[in-house]
Amino acid sequence: MGINGKRPIYLDYHATTPVDNRIGRQIQYYMSESFGNPNSIEHIYGTEGQLAVTEAKQFISQLVHCSVNEIIFTSGATESINLAIQGIIHGASRKSCVKKRVIAVSPTEHKAVLETCNYLQRQGLASVIMLDVDSYGRIDLQHLVRVCSAQPDLLCVMAANNEIGTINDIKSISSIAKEYDIPFLCDASQAVGRIHIDFEELGITFLAFTSHKIYGPKGIGALIIKNGTEVEPLFFGGGQQRNIRPGTLNVPGIVGLGEACRLRSLEMIKDEYQIMLRRDKLQDLLLSLIPEIRINGDVQNRLSGNLHISIPGISNGDIITLLRSKIAISSGSACSSSSPLPSHVLKAIGLPDEQIRSSLRIGLGKYTSNEDVEQAANIIAESVKKLRGSTNRVTYSI
Ligand code: PLP
Repeated sequence: MGINGKRPIYLDYHATTPVDNRIGRQIQYYMSESFGNPNSIEHIYGTEGQLAVTEAKQFISQLVHCSVNEIIFTSGATESINLAIQGIIHGASRKSCVKKRVIAVSPTEHKAVLETCNYLQRQGLASVIMLDVDSYGRIDLQHLVRVCSAQPDLLCVMAANNEIGTINDIKSISSIAKEYDIPFLCDASQAVGRIHIDFEELGITFLAFTSHKIYGPKGIGALIIKNGTEVEPLFFGGGQQRNIRPGTLNVPGIVGLGEACRLRSLEMIKDEYQIMLRRDKLQDLLLSLIPEIRINGDVQNRLSGNLHISIPGISNGDIITLLRSKIAISSGSACSSSSPLPSHVLKAIGLPDEQIRSSLRIGLGKYTSNEDVEQAANIIAESVKKLRGSTNRVTYSI
């Protein structure tokens, strides 16, 4: 428990978001009342489930502007990404005698992308070309053109980064991919529901995202696959979802994802504006209390809830431990925070090791209040003072 028996202030919205109560109530209903298997259409329980799935697809298609028959439900973005990358590479390998396929990938991608590529590389099925990024984490478009002109089999670039929040120019990236006719996987896990994403207009081949970043439940996500694209499935079973991802549909999860998308369509612009104001306030307060702080990433073009900082002389492990009972904050991606290795994203944008070791990822969301922001700034500043007074410092060359 945090201050005065209260829960710590939650500032880790890139890792996950709390479930909106309006979504939670719908999930509960489809778990205990309308619990039918949507394939059991001989009775009302099944048809209710089927209707719920159809409605959820409409809400998703309205948010990301895709056709309803392009939506494949998965267990989350990790599975969506695996399905797209492995599905394309296995499909291409089966069709032609060229053994090794080429994947062009941004070095700042989530581990779900990088590790899937590594796996295919270890299997001898693919080789990987790393794209150049600048010090803000943005793709170098000239390098991308050179890479695409060599005709890789797949291009993977995320819409927005989960550590530094940098938003990529997906429109330009997608049009380069289109010009060279290269399938393009865009991991939009941090972007869908936070910034405007139009699958059709952008001309993306695969769009991966997940419900638990937009106030929906964990364990459900989607892969939008452009009509006419062939992918090999990862699993085999009862033929659901046109055999691309068989298995009984997770109706409560799908309802949760659908409702999350419906609410984002209605509330995203207003919510994200408020989140941005609070993030800017937190940034201003921290800069006034600890002026030597450095802001990482692209301050002109980042997610509204993202504030990624380095505090000279302070080890992120030390400050996170000190803050633990008061603020829930992280040093980087939730998936790799148990790893002692420095963040691959911060390495890719060229931050020195000392700056990486002193970096904190702060993520605000729609439930972050002004009071949370004021308290958090003071608590972080107090903790920095405390640590500066102790001997446990990171040496930091300025
Ligand atoms: N991609 C990005 C950019 C993410 O932030 C995450 C979640 O941390 C994932 C992929 C994986 O999503 P999931 O937890 O739904 O598998």
